[in-house]
Amino acid sequence: MYWEESIETIKRDDLDKYQIKMLNILINQAKNSTFYKKRLFNYEKINSFSDFQKIPFTTKQDLRDGFPYDFLTIDIKEVVRLHSSSGTTGNPTVIFHTKNDLDEWSNLIARCMYMAGVRKEDIFQNIMSYGLFTGGIGFHYGAEKLGAMTIPIGPGNSKRQIWFMEKFKTTVVHILPSYALRLYTHLQEEGIDPKKDLSLKIAFVGAEPHTEETRRKIEELYGIKVYNSYGLSEMNGPGVAFECEYQNGMHLWEDNYYAEIINPETGEVLPDGEEGELVLTTLKRTAMPIIRYRTRDLTRIILGKCSCGRTHRKIDRIKGRSDDMLIINGVNIFPMQIEQILMKAKELGANYIIEVQKENFMDKLYIKVEINNQFFNGTLEELERLQKHIIEELKNEIGVNPIVKLVESGSLPQNEGKAVRVIDHRK
Ligand code: AMP
Ligand code: ZN
Repeated sequence: MYWEESIETIKRDDLDKYQIKMLNILINQAKNSTFYKKRLFNYEKINSFSDFQKIPFTTKQDLRDGFPYDFLTIDIKEVVRLHSSSGTTGNPTVIFHTKNDLDEWSNLIARCMYMAGVRKEDIFQNIMSYGLFTGGIGFHYGAEKLGAMTIPIGPGNSKRQIWFMEKFKTTVVHILPSYALRLYTHLQEEGIDPKKDLSLKIAFVGAEPHTEETRRKIEELYGIKVYNSYGLSEMNGPGVAFECEYQNGMHLWEDNYYAEIINPETGEVLPDGEEGELVLTTLKRTAMPIIRYRTRDLTRIILGKCSCGRTHRKIDRIKGRSDDMLIINGVNIFPMQIEQILMKAKELGANYIIEVQKENFMDKLYIKVEINNQFFNGTLEELERLQKHIIEELKNEIGVNPIVKLVESGSLPQNEGKAVRVIDHRK
């Protein structure tokens, strides 16, 4: 059973008390690491969240500077796994886990999957990368714990994906949203209608920013329910926050993580409901606790109770990362605002790319987007009309005049990992 009623519907007061207790345990545990021994030397006991909020933030740079072992609190012989986060410059960040840390993590994933309706009878095809990236392995162990037959296929090779889906009547997938859209074009090419010819019911999508419009598009194309899954390697990986059947924000598991929303510029803690940067603290991890980690992800706490009865607060869909924002001739734009418009148009397809460059000292915004052949097979004139319409919609949303190019399905570059949506030539 992975519906843990006493935990998931715990009274708010009891949850607060539990968090204070766990934060004290965590501070003591963290002091066993080289990094936190220095940082926490004058923090003894905390009695309230505001006491806790006096502790400085931990940043990605701290983790990099502490490479490899400065955050480890236990003897290396107790460590059973290492994961490493994506990153292109400097030292990678590495995260260590004990056997118990991994058990806690898989419990969380099992809890998330159960919440969305997955049961042991389901056939689960895990289309996320396995390896150092936490998305694949994280879900794998959770699904096995839940008891669903798990196919550890990983991403890519769409023909093989479809073959497995057909032969084993896959009911649940875990997939990057960008790949879910692309995979649909392969299904079309093979003449397969997922609504009729496959047994899919549920998809978990995450690991990269995507809009509500993208989710709805995937739901419509496949005839399934799509649930948003949020996590980051520094906080284990997937399983941090997850949607329930109401698909309206993600319950952040507050028995495992302490969450704050801060103003990214000033560091001030914001009240529930206001948008800012998510800051997370591990409550249970022993090998490598992390305190007040600046995720750079922008979101807000959703106010009010959820109809499902769970009391763990919900965060809104991630709007983007604070370092994602594009400034085009002084106007601030998030790539997700562009995606939102592109995904509303059914004539447009699976893939798009945003490019920014300087021309005559001005910033120019180029958007290339693939056409969906199933819904668009028009004349040149119709194509021009569609293009004008998209430019108009985009202009209204972002306040900048973009140059939009509609290109053939399958013609934009693809990669197996997280989609690269923005190329900024000014950098
Ligand atoms: P990594 O740990 O390197 O795989 O990357 C974690 C990052 O991926 C997060 O900090 C987010 O920026 C992004 N991410 C993960 N899940 C989601 C999601 N459901 N929606 C939006 N962004 C996500
Ligand atoms: Zn709920």
